[in-house]
Amino acid sequence: MTGWVKVAGLGPGDAAMVTDQVRAALDAATDVVGYIPYVARVTERPGLTLHPSDNRVELDRANHALDMAAAGRRVVVVSSGDPGVFAMAAALFEALEDRPAPEAFDIEILPGITAMLAAAARLGAPLGHDFCAINLSDNLKPWALIEKRLRLAAQGGFAMAFYNPRAASRPGRFEEVLKILRQELADDVLISFARAVTTPEERLLTVRLDEATADMADMRTMVIVGNADTRQVGRWIYSPRRAE
Ligand code: SAH
Repeated sequence: MTGWVKVAGLGPGDAAMVTDQVRAALDAATDVVGYIPYVARVTERPGLTLHPSDNRVELDRANHALDMAAAGRRVVVVSSGDPGVFAMAAALFEALEDRPAPEAFDIEILPGITAMLAAAARLGAPLGHDFCAINLSDNLKPWALIEKRLRLAAQGGFAMAFYNPRAASRPGRFEEVLKILRQELADDVLISFARAVTTPEERLLTVRLDEATADMADMRTMVIVGNADTRQVGRWIYSPRRAE
């Protein structure tokens, strides 16, 4: 097989956060596959075909990429942030599992700066101690599992980073998330809302847990919940490196 698939992360939005490795892959590609707004971030040029597709068709997209690679094309599948974080890399391997000769494919995963790390950097160092990342979307897992993980992470003293906090299809869900957190954590725990980080629409907000409201988050927001020691210094939020 002469074709290949590279699954690339475009970072949180700022062009300066696209790695040289990802740029080189896009320069070498014949085809780019991905969700419409991510493909829109790729510069058009002669010899490059863009294949934007709608949300929630990840497996179709992955199979399309594999088929094109098998036909000799050089395909970049784009994700925002990092492709391995709630994104296309895992979808590609799910599609690969159904192929008779998975080892015949030339596949590479090119990391990117995930929204969690870009948001944390803009806030200070809220993930300076142990933390976990939770996808609040219940498209691919039951709500009961999300609730269980929220409670256990809170009880474990982890700082938490939430992806996909809100969707039009799940009105009221983030309200429930806040309720669960308030049952498990102290009122003065800090919660940060980092929206559209590294883009012109960026907005950062940090409040106490008892002041947080669901409308502080939307689908372009990373929510970062501090641990019991997370504190403010000047305009920064940080979690000390030590814990008792
Ligand atoms: N693979 C992506 C995450 C995809 S899930 C990554 O690694 O970043 C999509 C969610 O990521 C959004 O709902 C939002 O919670 C978060 N997100 C993506 N880009 C963001 C940005 N620039 N600022 C804040 N949150 C962002």
